[in-house]
Amino acid sequence: MVRTQEGEGSGQIENAIPATHREHEVQKMNNAVTPRRPDEHGVPDPFPYMHPTLRANYGNWDWHERPRPGVLHHVAKSGDEIWTVRAGTQRQMDVGTIRKLCELADEFADGFMRFTTRSNAEFMVTSLDKTGPLIEKLNAAGFPVGGTGNSLSMISHTQGWLHCDIPGTDASGVVKSLMDELLHEFTHEEMPNRVRMTTSCCQINCGGQGDIAINVQYVKPPKINHDLVANVCERPAVVARCPVAAIRPAMVNGKPSLEVDEKKCICCGACYPPCPPMQINGPDSTKLAIWVGGKHSNARSKPTFHKLVAANLPNNPPRWPEVADIVKRILYAYKEDGRAWERLGEWIERIGWPRFFEMTDLAFTKHQIDDWRGARTSLNASAHLHF
Ligand code: SF4
Ligand code: SF4
Repeated sequence: MVRTQEGEGSGQIENAIPATHREHEVQKMNNAVTPRRPDEHGVPDPFPYMHPTLRANYGNWDWHERPRPGVLHHVAKSGDEIWTVRAGTQRQMDVGTIRKLCELADEFADGFMRFTTRSNAEFMVTSLDKTGPLIEKLNAAGFPVGGTGNSLSMISHTQGWLHCDIPGTDASGVVKSLMDELLHEFTHEEMPNRVRMTTSCCQINCGGQGDIAINVQYVKPPKINHDLVANVCERPAVVARCPVAAIRPAMVNGKPSLEVDEKKCICCGACYPPCPPMQINGPDSTKLAIWVGGKHSNARSKPTFHKLVAANLPNNPPRWPEVADIVKRILYAYKEDGRAWERLGEWIERIGWPRFFEMTDLAFTKHQIDDWRGARTSLNASAHLHF
């Protein structure tokens, strides 16, 4: 199909004989090629990947229980039963590790397994007899079984060095090293309620509300490499990106560049992704902060934003001992003092923030005072109905 002279003005399209050999070839090629379908089109249909028993009973479950930490037992209205075995992983997996997990799925779970959003591996088996040998093999291969009920599940994490272009720390490394230290809390259900921990490896993008959240915090404004800005950055886009209008266009050494009003800059790092020459990462600038009491769900109490409890912690790989120390103090104080079914944030609200800082032996400074203006809207975050 080509557009004819006559058709161009009127918007009509007609079949026409191509004018040249080249046009003829192009037309042949166009006819032969099937347009490629986009390969990023949202979440794939989960049903082909689902264990047949789950597929057959989708939406028709009768009851469930947890026979032991790391194992869920679901019974369908049809009478079908399935046991889910949840195992922790090291978060970043090589092909050899994934093959190992797939072999276990072939041996015990009819060739089906899945990864949770927290990088737990889950195997569904149709008989209780299979759970014991599967758990034994998982443990022998270095995958601890747990993370269900009132335990500490795997820490959810952002992409870090492997996939993202702006991380300030290796979120996966923080996850692995902390989970090594908190293994007992993963394999035992001894917490007052479930504990959900999160990480983020920059200050602005992924990450989430968590009972305990470990987030990157920048403490210095970006340093600008003026030689590169003119070549690399789309300057108006960078200026527009700053939430406090601290970036201005400037001429430096005769070249168009940018400048930052450091009095205004809140060190958020939002200018760094669109303009890498505005480098914000560095040993003296990239720190870690710990927040507590965030909750997504509406179960039993309303969702809440987390609050800052410790800041300016060193970004200290490969084991982040300063972060681990504070996380453990918070976690064990909650384990000791929390009432049954109290989430970590609810425990803190009950005992009061002064007592929380006493029990965890953390310093309370002026930086912990919640003076964010938007906080008043968080009072309306609940979807609970009250009559
Ligand atoms: S938290 Fe930031 S650095 Fe980490 S993966 Fe998300 S966008 Fe990238
Ligand atoms: S770090 Fe944030 S506040 Fe500072 S200049 Fe960049 S975008 Fe603006």
